[in-house]
Amino acid sequence: MMITIKCPKCGTEGSQSLLEPDYEGPYRCWKCRELFTIKIEGNEVKSWEPLTEEEMEEEQERRRQIEELKAKFKKQPPD
Ligand SMILES: [Zn+2]
Repeated sequence: MMITIKCPKCGTEGSQSLLEPDYEGPYRCWKCRELFTIKIEGNEVKSWEPLTEEEMEEEQERRRQIEELKAKFKKQPPD
């Protein structure tokens, strides 16, 4: 599912693909490159929080570590 997100800084519309109607996470405007943490409920953006580049990297790093952990504990399917 794709929803349209209008950048609160420059007004440019971008899109975000959602797995669920509720989402909270980083969004970067493709036009002005501004970063935000957005909160979506019922396919509508409910809140915008400015996000710094450092915070974005920390968040990505945290998610990457979680994925690594998950992969470690997941049994490999036999070839
Ligand atoms: Zn923008």
